[in-house]
Amino acid sequence: MPSEFDLIARYFSRGPVQRADVLLGVGDDCALLEVPAGRQLAVSIDTLVEGTHFARDADPRALGHKALAVNLSDLAAMGAEPAWATLALTLPAADESWLAAFAGGFLALAERHGVQLVGGDTTRGPRSITVQVHGFVEPGRALRRDGARAGDLVYVTGTLGDAGLALLAQQGLFVGLGVLDGLRERLDRPTPRLAEGRALAGIASAAIDVSDGLAADLGHVCAASGVGATLFLERLPCSAAVRDYVAGTGDWSVPLAAGDDYELCLTVPAARQAEAEALGATLPAGLHWIGTIERVAGVRLVLPDGGTIDQAPVGYDHFAGDD
Ligand SMILES: [Mg+2]
Repeated sequence: MPSEFDLIARYFSRGPVQRADVLLGVGDDCALLEVPAGRQLAVSIDTLVEGTHFARDADPRALGHKALAVNLSDLAAMGAEPAWATLALTLPAADESWLAAFAGGFLALAERHGVQLVGGDTTRGPRSITVQVHGFVEPGRALRRDGARAGDLVYVTGTLGDAGLALLAQQGLFVGLGVLDGLRERLDRPTPRLAEGRALAGIASAAIDVSDGLAADLGHVCAASGVGATLFLERLPCSAAVRDYVAGTGDWSVPLAAGDDYELCLTVPAARQAEAEALGATLPAGLHWIGTIERVAGVRLVLPDGGTIDQAPVGYDHFAGDD
C-alpha cells in the first residue's frame, strides 16, 4: 500500500477548490484555517462503514459523493455555509481505481459547494469513511433543534420517500424502469439543501435534516424543544413514484419513516410564515407546509380521510399497508 502521504497527495491534494481562508492545507501536521471575523464555526462528523452503511460493491464515485453530502446536509440543517472538510479513509488494500473514483465523486461535490479538503488520514483495515465538515454561521442565526415553539408551522424541502422507495426496489419491489434511475439517484447521490438552509437561517425557529425519516427526525426536534407536532399526510410532498406507491399500498412509511432523503425539516413562527413561503418559492427544492407544532409531546398524524394516528411510527416499518 502506498504511504498515507502518497495516497492523499495523489488523489486529494490538488483538489479543485483553493480558498483564501486556508493558510495551510494538506501536507503539514495540521491545517491552518482562518474563521472569518464575526462568524461562528459549525462542525459535524459522520462515519460510513462497509456492511453497515454501504455494500462492498457500492459504486465508489457515488460513495465519495454521499460521504461528503451527508455531512454537508448537517451544515445545511444548521443554516451554515460550508468551507472546509477533512477525510479519514480506512481501506483493506491499495485499490487505486477505487480511490480515484471515490476522490472524483467527493471532489466534484466539494467543488460545487466551494469546499476545500484541508487534511486527511488513511489507515489499513476494514473499509470505512469518516468525513468532517466545517462551516460558518452568523451568531444567533444557527438553526438549532431546540427552538421550535407551540404555534410554529412545520415545513419540509423537496420530496420525501424517494430514497426509501429505492431501497424497497433494491429488495425486490417492482418499480418501473423509467422511475428506478431517478429514485436510485436520490438514494446514492443525495443533494444537501445548503441554499435552503442558508436562506431560512434567521427565519426558521428550528431545523433538522431528514436522515432517519421525517417522523423520527421531527420527533428529535420536538424532544429537544419540549413540544409536539401534528403532520397532515396529504400535505407530504412526494414524487409521482412515491404517490403511486402509497396509493397502491396504503403504506405511508416510505415518505414518513424511511431515511436517507436528506431534505430539511424546519419549523417557522407563524409571524414569519409569509416571509418563509415567499423565500421558499425561490428555493431550488421548494418549501412545503406539512404540519404544526403543539404543546403536547409526540408526533401525531392526520390521514387524508381525516382519521388520526396518535403516535407516528419511527424507523422503517410498514404500518398501514396490507402486511
Ligand atoms: Mg443531521
